[in-house]
Amino acid sequence: MERLQKILAQAGIASRRKCEELILAGKVEVNGETVTALGTKADPEQDIITVAGKPIRNENKIYIMLNKPKGVITSASDPAGRKIVTDYVKGIKERIYPVGRLDYDTEGLLLLTNDGEFANMLTHPKHHVPKTYLATVEGIPHGTELDKLRAGIKLEDGMTSPAEVEYKDIDTEKKEAVISITIHEGRNRQVRRMFEAISHKVIRLKRISFGDLLLQNLKRGLYRHLTKDEIESLK
Ligand code: URA
Repeated sequence: MERLQKILAQAGIASRRKCEELILAGKVEVNGETVTALGTKADPEQDIITVAGKPIRNENKIYIMLNKPKGVITSASDPAGRKIVTDYVKGIKERIYPVGRLDYDTEGLLLLTNDGEFANMLTHPKHHVPKTYLATVEGIPHGTELDKLRAGIKLEDGMTSPAEVEYKDIDTEKKEAVISITIHEGRNRQVRRMFEAISHKVIRLKRISFGDLLLQNLKRGLYRHLTKDEIESLK
């Protein structure tokens, strides 16, 4: 239970001071009852709170991007008590869940939301959102090997659609390469399996974009809310 003016301010209605004025002016109702006493407490999750007749939580849809660290499970719960992505968004009260998944050892851009329709749309197989990854691989793949990924390659669950593939870095001493790869599907362990199919093991994998969204310099383990334009760009 929290003070009503705090709930209203946190919902972005107005400053706490202005929210107190709204309460005193009789504009605020909790479960259908007008509340004018400033000390009144309410449950921000359960109670129906309106200001001038409009519910405050109506549009309380949350869309965030997290820079998922490696060694974290893409899930909203884990019975075994391992680290999960929602451990990184503790500041958010709404129940949010990941859109699609990144492997335990994959890092980078992961969306989380409480908008089920939006999540289903983005993860539906017919919705081909491009996703770009930086894959560090063992050995230095030959151009003709990368061409196979560009053309689409046979995996045990069928051919992949063509991918955009580019060298980003080549370390001849370590015998490793960093390759950027953009895929338009979201099969299980797809990027790792595509590189396995050309005999190069992925030793680090990071997602750097999802549709028009870019991870940019968001620090590992931190999150940010998407802007309205970013949300629209995915719809
Ligand atoms: N492809 C993979 O192999 N792993 C991921 O986590 C995402 C894409």
